[in-house]
Amino acid sequence: MNAFRYAQARDAASAMAALAADPRARYIAGGTNVVDLMKEGVERPSLLVDITQLPLRGIDRTATGVRVGALALMSDVADHPAIARDYPVVAQALLASASPQLRNMATIGGNLMQRTRCAYFRDVSQHCNKRAPGTGCAAISGVNRRHAVVGGSEQCICTHASDLAVALLSVDAIVHVRGRAGERTVPLERFHVLPGSTPQRETVLEHGDLITAVELPASAAARNSYYLKVRDRASYEFALVSVAAALNVAGGRIRAARVALGGVAPTPWRAHAAEAALLGRPATGGTFAAAAEAATRGMKGYGQNDFKIVLVRRAVNRALQHVGAIA
Ligand code: SF4
Repeated sequence: MNAFRYAQARDAASAMAALAADPRARYIAGGTNVVDLMKEGVERPSLLVDITQLPLRGIDRTATGVRVGALALMSDVADHPAIARDYPVVAQALLASASPQLRNMATIGGNLMQRTRCAYFRDVSQHCNKRAPGTGCAAISGVNRRHAVVGGSEQCICTHASDLAVALLSVDAIVHVRGRAGERTVPLERFHVLPGSTPQRETVLEHGDLITAVELPASAAARNSYYLKVRDRASYEFALVSVAAALNVAGGRIRAARVALGGVAPTPWRAHAAEAALLGRPATGGTFAAAAEAATRGMKGYGQNDFKIVLVRRAVNRALQHVGAIA
C-alpha cells in the first residue's frame, strides 16, 4: 500500500475544502471498498478524508417518502420499519448484499460509489481501460462469465456490483449532492454513467462532490416491490443477474411498473422495454412473460456470459409473478 495522509472532517465544508485542495484526495466512510482497492494498488489516494463524523446518518420520514442520510449504515436501513414496509425491495436487496459484518460498516452513499468487481480491474498486472485508460480491456476476450450483456462498450464490459442501487432504481430514488455550486439532486437513473470511451468515469459526480442523502419517494408500486438475486452461492456473493420489480396493480390492470436489473450492465440497468410491455396490461402470466422477453432486448453476450440473457428472461418473469401475486 502506498503512503497516504488521513484527516477527519469536522463538517461538510471542511471535507469538501480538503478535496478541492488535492485532486488525489478521496472521501472515506465505512472503507469497505476503498481500503481493499488501496491494498491491491488499484487506488492510490494521497489523502483520505474521513467523513464519518458528519451528521448524515438519519433515516427520516418526509411528506413525500423517506430520506436516508448518505452515512446511514446498510444494516440500519435494512432494519428500519419504514423501509421494510414501504420499500421491501430496498430492504431485501440490502439483506442480500455482502455479509452482516460488512453491512454494519458500509454506508448507503459508499454503496452507490463502489467500484466494479471485475477481476482484471483489481489485478494491476492486467490490461484494464477503467483502471489505466488506453491499456485495453482484458475481459472482452478473456474470462467474461460475470460481465455485461448490455450497456458496455469496446472499452469496457464490466458490471456494477451494487444490489442496493438496482433496488433504488426501481423506486425512482433521488440522490442529493452537495457540490461547489451548492445543493443539487440527481435522479438515480442519471447518477451512474455508461463506460462509452471513458470507462474511468462512473458517475456524474465531480471531484469533491459529497452525497448527502438518498430520497425514496412513496408510491403504491414501491410498497409492492421485490428483489430477486441469482448468484453462484446463497450468501456473500455478487449477482449474476438480479431483478428489482415494483408493480401497482388495480382492478386487475397494471397501473405502474418498474423493472431494474443488476449484474448485466456497467450501471444499474432500468428495463424500459419491459415496463412498457407491462403498463396498462392485465396482470397475467402472459403479460409477465412478454415483459420478461422484452427485458432482454438488445442484450449481447461475449461467449462465457451468454447464459445471462436466458437468466434475465427467467428471473424477470419470476419476479413479476411475485409482485403480480401469481403463485
Ligand atoms: Fe477493465 Fe472494464 Fe475491461 Fe474489466 S471490463 S478489464 S473493468 S475495462
